[in-house]
Amino acid sequence: MDKIIIENLEFIGTHGVFQEEKNLGQKFLVSVEMTTSTREAGKTGDLTKSTHYGFVADDIEKIFLGNSFDLIETCAEEIATMILRKYPLISEVKVCIKKPWAPIKKHFDFVAVEITRKWHKAYVSLGSNMGDKKGNLLKAIKNIKNLPDTFVTKQSTILETEPYGYTDQDMFLNGCIEIKTLFTPQELIQKLLEIETIMGRKRVIKWGPRIIDLDIILFDDEIINEENLTVPHPYMCDRLFVLEPLFEIAPYIIHPVKRMSIMEIKNILEKSSNS
Ligand code: ADP
Ligand code: MG
Repeated sequence: MDKIIIENLEFIGTHGVFQEEKNLGQKFLVSVEMTTSTREAGKTGDLTKSTHYGFVADDIEKIFLGNSFDLIETCAEEIATMILRKYPLISEVKVCIKKPWAPIKKHFDFVAVEITRKWHKAYVSLGSNMGDKKGNLLKAIKNIKNLPDTFVTKQSTILETEPYGYTDQDMFLNGCIEIKTLFTPQELIQKLLEIETIMGRKRVIKWGPRIIDLDIILFDDEIINEENLTVPHPYMCDRLFVLEPLFEIAPYIIHPVKRMSIMEIKNILEKSSNS
């Protein structure tokens, strides 16, 4: 991908943990590297097809001089979030803040913090088999839409499916959505579990009846194996009620472990369950 770069914007800022740093101020250098496609602007000469680095520099200055953060980590995070929120053509941004006069009694050129942030694409499956099932799915989608820096970019139809695992229970309604978010996978799962809890989910029987179940199926092409989070979702390839709605909105997405498309995985499962 192409990049638009601003290197070493210089400011006298008041960021730092020590009171002296807040009183006196010191020199900082801010650099950003914004990932975008410049192809359209390059071909047409039309700046509206690109991102105006002058405006970005003004916005960085507002954050930098309008605040006095203890940590340059916080400052970098604010700058990265502002750029991704405000400039829709930027998909990823690297922010580096250098502090050449940092108060440590050593010889050095600078200390710095560098972070990379980007819009993530994730697929979340939804299920309900208690109460107003359709209403529950729609309410969950509304709650996800209300999360900060999170957009629902695609939504499957809602399918009725047989219960799985613990089969002595009511039919399920299932669906899947694609989201665009700035949350990390861990932040996202916490938010989804919170929505489940707010909506009244109680965990009684494993795979038992539930008002709402929200699972992260895929998160970019990340492979995550943490105590409370496995992505891709470990059972997605065995569950038609996950694959069918996912197939509707993302047939060609590649499963990062199996290296097969959702269409292929679904075809294989359908063949094996018919034989
Ligand atoms: P299930 O979805 O299999 O019916 P639960 O909804 O009760 O099970 O989830 C139990 C736990 O599974 C959650 O506390 C969550 O931390 C963990 N978990 C691990 N990986 C995922 C994932 N990809 N999506 C959702 N939950 C997950
Ligand atoms: Mg779940």
